[in-house]
Amino acid sequence: MTDYRPACVVWELTLACNLKCLHCGSTAGGRRAAELTPEEALKLCADMARAGTRGVALMGGEPFLRKDFFAIASKVRELGMELSVITNGTIFSDEIFAGLKELSPRAVAVSLDAADPALHDRIRGVPGSFEKSGRFIDRCLAEGLPVSVITTVHKLNIKELPKLRDALKGRGIAWQVQTAGAEGGRFKKEFLLTPEEFYSVGLFVEACRREFSPEELPVIGAHDLGYHSLLLKNVSLYETWDGCQAGKAVAGVRSDGGVLGCLAINDDRFLEGNVRERSFYDIWNDPAGFAYTRGYKKEQAGANCAGCEHADTCGGGCNEMSLMKTGELHNDPYCFHRLEKELFKDELANPLKRAALKLRGAAPAALFRRLGRMFYGGRGNEDKHRMRL
Ligand code: SF4
Ligand code: SF4
Repeated sequence: MTDYRPACVVWELTLACNLKCLHCGSTAGGRRAAELTPEEALKLCADMARAGTRGVALMGGEPFLRKDFFAIASKVRELGMELSVITNGTIFSDEIFAGLKELSPRAVAVSLDAADPALHDRIRGVPGSFEKSGRFIDRCLAEGLPVSVITTVHKLNIKELPKLRDALKGRGIAWQVQTAGAEGGRFKKEFLLTPEEFYSVGLFVEACRREFSPEELPVIGAHDLGYHSLLLKNVSLYETWDGCQAGKAVAGVRSDGGVLGCLAINDDRFLEGNVRERSFYDIWNDPAGFAYTRGYKKEQAGANCAGCEHADTCGGGCNEMSLMKTGELHNDPYCFHRLEKELFKDELANPLKRAALKLRGAAPAALFRRLGRMFYGGRGNEDKHRMRL
């Protein structure tokens, strides 16, 4: 038995989906060949509880397409685990809302990629998706359910962030901002953010967190937006970044029972086992399991991270981003600390300027204007929507 406990298991209930999102990392659409049966799914719930799992996030594909969704979700709650649901928000009925209320979920998260309905529908691949997801969110709010919105940022929607901020603020909706990877078969690599665009997303989240109270706009950056920044102290949910938690505090389960450290790592080489052959409890407690995080040593850091003073604890950033962008683990090229060395090279070379940067937490004005233009498209508009850091 290991000392690790799963704080959150993300479970792809089915790969079936009624949308065709461009950035979907698992290219969802049809079911996997042999998805878990209702009996196997309930056994998995019991095994996760036995392994000490604190919370389970049910996602897809689209989780409401699974007919036994409520039987599984109820079992999770019955066994004392917290429940989150991640949905595209386009499948709903009075029964679904009543069932969700009964479950007292920790969060009902809905994907929203743009404030512009046509752009959201284009990214989601199905006309009318925006309107349906909007209705879903409104109804959740009316029912008193804890609603979150997840926005996955890439080149097509980076300019939507300020409009989404304005649409979400003051509504009691938690907002998670994350950046797209290119694992899925529908996403073109040219839609990936450039390093500067990536940094500007961090700057945007930081600006929101400085400008709005958590009551007005509870916004966070996901795991991929970090690490050890001189300037961006407020982007992530975590006060300190202790490295990728795949197999340490989080796990992912595919709808066919395959277990991974993180469901975002869409690569069969990182499958730790299948719950049809070994219980989740045994897979999680395997002393040889999840070696890439549990057994990480700083000497394993890739070229982007070798020599970094944080390599020991950081572990080279998000392993999913690292793998997707470089083909290696522990080598995340999109890291605030690393990018700032380039973006702030003049300030960092000068001890006085470096100290001022650290103390004031303020970006140099010219850099700020350049990054701000990524959202507002041209001269003049940046002042109107100015990000206040
Ligand atoms: S350069 Fe690598 S090890 Fe250093 S903070 Fe960034 S991701 Fe972490
Ligand atoms: S691979 Fe990335 S998203 Fe997955 S647990 Fe690690 S840091 Fe988080």
